[in-house]
Amino acid sequence: MKSIMDLHTHTIASGHGYSTLQENIMEAQRMGLQFLGLSEHGPAMPGGPHEYFFSNYKCIPRQYGNLRLLCGIEANITDDKGGLDLPEHLLERMDYVIASMHPPCVTPGGREYNTRASIKAMQNPMVKILGHPDDARYPLDYDELVRAAKEEGVALEVNNSSLHPMAPRMGAKENIETLLSYCMKYQASVLLGTDSHISYTIGKYDAVMEIIESVQFPRALILNYEPENIHGLVNIKL
Ligand SMILES: [Zn+2]
Ligand SMILES: [Zn+2]
Repeated sequence: MKSIMDLHTHTIASGHGYSTLQENIMEAQRMGLQFLGLSEHGPAMPGGPHEYFFSNYKCIPRQYGNLRLLCGIEANITDDKGGLDLPEHLLERMDYVIASMHPPCVTPGGREYNTRASIKAMQNPMVKILGHPDDARYPLDYDELVRAAKEEGVALEVNNSSLHPMAPRMGAKENIETLLSYCMKYQASVLLGTDSHISYTIGKYDAVMEIIESVQFPRALILNYEPENIHGLVNIKL
């Protein structure tokens, strides 16, 4: 089966990405994707774009041959009360929203705090994807998290970049295995994302597929393969 979407990508606008939007689009086309998501880091990320960046997406064409571009945000979870780093009126204008925990945008708490912070973020109706819930710096109660994601209709991301040997998100392999075991138990869906910070990695899921194969994760719970799954991941009509 072939993944036809990658909704987690960054450009030079994030401050620590190395490709332009045009380069990302060209690579997504070369990879035969049907959906490419621009998920720039929210303004709380050092070097990240100002909120004006997110208010000007109207100027970006969305269709490139067979490729549909979606312009969204990887918003920073900022506390355990549902705080995100973009005002509500702008969040509502995003094609889609990923919510993630990143240092230094939120101080890691204990397992309870991090789980509550993630669940509160998922309860925001704009949030349809929880980014990389695999980071040992932010321990999570996966049983509780997966049940909440299923209830809220939020996709849990399996992040290919977390598995890079030099990735700062330590313990990702073990955490992804645990996450997937609860997703199987509760029949919760996941979304594969590359979290590309350079065009060359767009649409490539080699590291996560190794784990998917090794735990025999059912393909029916992976949202990347069927174009109609896009409707549950975005906040716009397509
Ligand atoms: Zn992230
Ligand atoms: Zn990212």
